[in-house]
Amino acid sequence: MTRTVLMNAGPWLPVPPDGYGGIENVVAALVPELRRRGIRVLLATVARSTLPADERLTSFPGGQFEVLQRPYNQVSGVAHAHLHAVVRALRDRHDIDLVHDHVEVVGLAVLAAAALAPAAPPVLHTLHWDLHKHADFYSGLDAGPRVRVNGVSASQLDRAPAALRRHSMGHVHLATPLAVGADRRPLAEKAGHAVVMGRITPGKGQHLAARLAHECGIDLVLAGPVGPYQQPADLTEAGDAAAANPDVRYWEDEVRPLVDGIRVRWIGTVAARERNSLVASARVALFPLQWEEPGGTAVIESLALGTPVVGLSRGCLPELVEHGRTGWLAKSPDDLAALVQAAGQIDPRECREQAARRFTPAMMAARYADLYEQLISGSVPRAGEHAG
Ligand code: UDP
Repeated sequence: MTRTVLMNAGPWLPVPPDGYGGIENVVAALVPELRRRGIRVLLATVARSTLPADERLTSFPGGQFEVLQRPYNQVSGVAHAHLHAVVRALRDRHDIDLVHDHVEVVGLAVLAAAALAPAAPPVLHTLHWDLHKHADFYSGLDAGPRVRVNGVSASQLDRAPAALRRHSMGHVHLATPLAVGADRRPLAEKAGHAVVMGRITPGKGQHLAARLAHECGIDLVLAGPVGPYQQPADLTEAGDAAAANPDVRYWEDEVRPLVDGIRVRWIGTVAARERNSLVASARVALFPLQWEEPGGTAVIESLALGTPVVGLSRGCLPELVEHGRTGWLAKSPDDLAALVQAAGQIDPRECREQAARRFTPAMMAARYADLYEQLISGSVPRAGEHAG
């Protein structure tokens, strides 16, 4: 029987994203594989998205990412307007078998309420974020029998509040289209640089990466946005107005003093081929994490592109990186310098083989299709049985 899934990608960025966008990259990897399996996808996103789907439901013309780090009273209307459009679709049509939601907190709260209506479809809400941010909400969660969540790593769920874990169907690791045939692509030539691919934000530890580059004498490229500012010129143009943003303050206070434009460079957001060749040609991808990274899209992309990972052993890293085979993980930042020097001992072919074996969109879609069936057929274990 053909199933129809309403895939709620949220209002923040187009799918696929133009550059930065972890959740949107994962949705872009998942949807084509679900459709290949015969699942119809109604994609709730912004109008500028180009990902093919069976149908689309749009709330805003373009991504609202630049609004995201504004104060709550300026940002909450965006998420709710998008969810309101989703709930109206659920009210007006009767062919949706399940909602797969990716919108932080608001998605779960609103869809849990909507799922109380008779004949409303079940909901699977994927937790892409640091769960500690929302402990007040998760620790009292009681979303009813037809609403379930999944994590993006085991370590993320291990640390989740008990009430949230009672709603869990387990974890599904992220995937990247770069993993498909990763082991068969010609190996990229390695240049000398290290790379950090991601938002410039305290959790990703760019200040530690920059210190490391100076200490080890290796070139470092930082790619990614600072808050809503995609390129260095955007940040310069914003002037003093940008300083209210916490990621801008991190950049100014802790990272920028170490960015000399020679040894350490910030190149802004990179996309598509430029991103892939920057990562594939790097000798090492650095993840000196200062938070419990939940899913690590950039980690699996590095492996798929044949670039060893060196980072701190926290969050999802120990699940994704095999110490000594696809990278090196340290307990303390003091141990990273030696591991950066040892990155050459890791075989890029092993990184790519593991990515091709573990992180393909087809594998992720198979897991989700299975979770959808359990929810639609009502064969979901009672709350708590799947915890973890
Ligand atoms: N990214 C990109 N260009 C950049 C910086 C990041 O394409 O300049 C992508 C990166 O490749 C990854 C995503 O943005 O696909 C970041 O997702 P991740 O899960 O690593 O980080 P988070 O969601 O925590 O920001």
